[in-house]
Amino acid sequence: MTAARLTFDAAPLRVYWEVTRACDLACRHCRAEALSRRHPQELTTGEGLHLLDLGTQYIPRRALIEDGGDEVLRCPTPGVLVRTADGWFLLDTGLNREVASRPDRIERWFAWGECEFPGAGDPLLEALSACGVAPGDLVGAAVSHLHADHSGGLRHLEDGPPVAVQTS
Ligand code: SF4
Repeated sequence: MTAARLTFDAAPLRVYWEVTRACDLACRHCRAEALSRRHPQELTTGEGLHLLDLGTQYIPRRALIEDGGDEVLRCPTPGVLVRTADGWFLLDTGLNREVASRPDRIERWFAWGECEFPGAGDPLLEALSACGVAPGDLVGAAVSHLHADHSGGLRHLEDGPPVAVQTS
């Protein structure tokens, strides 16, 4: 993917996805325009969101927390597929299986245990396919940052939708 295909200026600082507008309190100034009951056209959580297993890596605590010690943690790298009014939106693209299998990358980044993947093929393509979605169906995507465990599937969006990326 070329830099021109990534949208840095339009990248949001935070993304929220609300599962319902129903809230018993229904405060007058609610920015979410809450209702006391579910909206009749509201999607179920199963219809509106899929948590995608895009691989798991092993990282020592000290790489995540200062003075965290040598204990190795199992760290899933999920993506989220969100159904919006305009279509499917993807948050994060997980690990790149080919990169995670290269000896030089294993030595440098994955030395604490080989990455695991849910299936035999490409994790993002398999996860999208299981939801009945192809990369070309996406209306947009966002990547939290450009580390290897979040950007591994970006190459599948080369001819796809705009991709928002955090600048720092
Ligand atoms: S602000 Fe909205 S969501 Fe929050 S408690 Fe009030 S009605 Fe509920």
